Amino acid sequence: MKIGVDLGGSHVAVGIVSDEGKILSKQEKDLVFSNEDKEQLIRDTIVSLINNALRRINIPIFLIEKIGIGVPGEVQDNKVKKCTKFEIFDWDLAGELEDFYKVKVELSNDGYLAALAERKFGSLMEEERAVFLCIGTGIGSAILNRGVIIPSEIGHTIIKEDGNICNCGRQGCFETYASMKVFKENIIRVLGLKESTTSEEIANYIRVNENDNEELKNYINEYIEYLEVGISNIINTIHPDTICIGGGFVYFEDILMHRLQERINTQIYKFQKPKIVLAKLGNDAGIIGATCF
Ligand SMILES: [Zn+2]
Repeated sequence: MKIGVDLGGSHVAVGIVSDEGKILSKQEKDLVFSNEDKEQLIRDTIVSLINNALRRINIPIFLIEKIGIGVPGEVQDNKVKKCTKFEIFDWDLAGELEDFYKVKVELSNDGYLAALAERKFGSLMEEERAVFLCIGTGIGSAILNRGVIIPSEIGHTIIKEDGNICNCGRQGCFETYASMKVFKENIIRVLGLKESTTSEEIANYIRVNENDNEELKNYINEYIEYLEVGISNIINTIHPDTICIGGGFVYFEDILMHRLQERINTQIYKFQKPKIVLAKLGNDAGIIGATCF
């Protein structure tokens, strides 16, 4: 048994995972930063979620073989080398948690781990050449080539010169137009919803309003156009057989997938169009992947 931690840009999810890749107990919480120490808030959130997840199924920590953590940024020598989302650099998160739990803790890149989970248990088990896009707070990604997973930062490829400001320091990155954070913020603005509205609630508001709200329809079309531009760059550089989409995007499957597919069908690419599939493990790929590296 292992513990997988999916440290997202605005949300932490923790699962106790069996050797067969099944989540036995899961706990999650949003990260709301105010003025406190960010490292402390993240560490305290992870610890309380792990403790609750263990308590729920009555498992003592000494039965846990390893804690794996997916980090939205660069990992080097098992440390958070660079995480621009949190403005955290050179942080020994693994060492701090190892001291606390006396269990081995390993870090890796979140996009890589989610792709690894889909490779082992989900939508990419049979694929030769594929790209995994984790569309959530940002856009994490990994390229799968003949069984080898190559971490990548497709979310930071530029799709608009002098475009939206990105936390990586550049402008016009794919994720500043096509992440779920941006999508939800815009839907909240168009529909005049409360900032705290959850993904499930936002999806329901869209289903109820999409037929007779022009502004909503226009924004969803605009979102799909940006998403397709990013995907066209993937198709023309990597030529994948399959593009697998996971992350918070999965909550909006019925709203976004057919529109994306229709848009791709009308566009021209230098290569054959890939299959676009949804992550079979849904938003749990990050947790499961964190237990299989
Ligand atoms: Zn960027």
